[in-house]
Amino acid sequence: MASFDVRFLGCKVSHLDAQEIRARLLADGHAEGGGDIAVVNTCCVTNEAVSKSRQAVARAARTHRRVYVTGCGASLPGAFANTAENVVVVSRRSEETPAAVAADVGALGCTRDDARLERVRAFVKIQDGCSFSCNFCVIPLVRGATRSRRAHAVLAEVRRRVEQGHREVVLTGVNLGCFRDRDAGYDLARLVREAGATPGLARLRLSSIEINHVNDALVAALRETPAAARHLHVPLQSGDDRVLRDMGRRYTVATYLNKLEPLEDFNLTADVIVGFPTEDERAFANTLRTVEAARLTKVHVFPYSPRPGTRTAQDDRVSAQEKKERSARLRVQSRAACLSHWRTKVGRDDVVLVDRPGRGYGDDYSPWLVDAPLGELVRVRGAAASEEGILAA
Ligand code: SF4
Repeated sequence: MASFDVRFLGCKVSHLDAQEIRARLLADGHAEGGGDIAVVNTCCVTNEAVSKSRQAVARAARTHRRVYVTGCGASLPGAFANTAENVVVVSRRSEETPAAVAADVGALGCTRDDARLERVRAFVKIQDGCSFSCNFCVIPLVRGATRSRRAHAVLAEVRRRVEQGHREVVLTGVNLGCFRDRDAGYDLARLVREAGATPGLARLRLSSIEINHVNDALVAALRETPAAARHLHVPLQSGDDRVLRDMGRRYTVATYLNKLEPLEDFNLTADVIVGFPTEDERAFANTLRTVEAARLTKVHVFPYSPRPGTRTAQDDRVSAQEKKERSARLRVQSRAACLSHWRTKVGRDDVVLVDRPGRGYGDDYSPWLVDAPLGELVRVRGAAASEEGILAA
C-alpha cells in the first residue's frame, strides 16, 4: 500500500480531475495522507498559475518520494521541464489520467469502491475540452477538442451521488454548452431537466456557460426545474466590442446583454480578463459599464498573461501596474454589486443549503450566514447584509 496526497490548482474542472485521481487511488487500496506519493493537478491558465503549480510540485518533491504532475499544466510544453528526479509528468487526456497514475503506482486490490469526496456538494463532469479558439486561451491546446460523456452515465452518476448523501450536484465541464449526446438525443437543456428530477436532489447548478449557449430551451429548463439554482456563471472576458473581437470571442456586448435579459431574477456572475493587449482605458471603462448593465454580482478578475502556443502569445502591451489598477477597480465594483444584491434579501425568505459550518448558499447561490446542521435545507429570512454574506434572522 502507498500513502498519497492529492492537491489541485485552478478551476472546478481541475478540482474534479484531482478528485477522480484520488478516488481511483483509494479504490486501488492506497491510503490518504503520508509521504509516498503526491499528485499535483496543475493549472496553466495564466503565468501566475503555472508558477504556483511549479512551486507546489517543488514543495511536494521535497516531502514525498514520488510526485505525479497532472492536469492542464502537464500538457503545456516545457512547463515542467527541469524538475526534480522524483517528479513524473503525466501528459494525458483527463479521462486517461487516473488510470495512468494508478498503473504507475500499482494496484493493491479494490478496498474502497466509492470515495465520498465532499459531504454536501458533488461535481459531476459532463464534458471536457473546447473547440472554440479564443485567441488568448491555452485550454484547447492542453485539454483537446470538446467531447461529451454519455447522458445515461451522467444521470447514473447524479443518482449515485445523491444516494451517497450529496444534496447538491454541479454539472461541470470546460465548455458546458457543447454537451451533446446525439445518439440518445440529449442536449444540455434536457440533461438539466432530467438530472434535476433525480429524487432526493436538493440543488442542481451549472459550473459555467458561454453566452452563445444561453438559449430559450436552456432558460426554460432552468426555470421549470425546481432543483435548478437561479444562478448562472457566464464568462464575459471583456465588455468592449473591439476587445471581444480581438480576443476571438464570438459575441458582442449587445448579444451578451440581450441573452441575459430573460434571466433578470437570476444571480449572474462572470469571469473578466483585465489588461488584454488591445484594452485601453476607454475599453476598460466599457467593461465596467457592461458589468453594471448585465447586473453581474461576483466577477472573477484575471489579469491577462500571454500563454505559449496562442495567437496572442507574443503580445503583452498593458503594463503590470495598469493591470493591477484595473483589476482593483473591477474588484471594488464587484464587491459593491454583491453587497447591493445581498441587501435585496433583507426582510425576505430564502431556502439555504448549509454546506459548511455556519454558512450556506441560497436559491440563487448568494452566500448566507446561518446556524444549522451541515447538509440541511433551511428556510431563513434575511436580517442584514455584511461583507461576508447575508445574515439570517
Ligand atoms: S471558450 Fe474560449 S476561453 Fe473558454 S476554454 Fe474555450 S477557448 Fe478557452
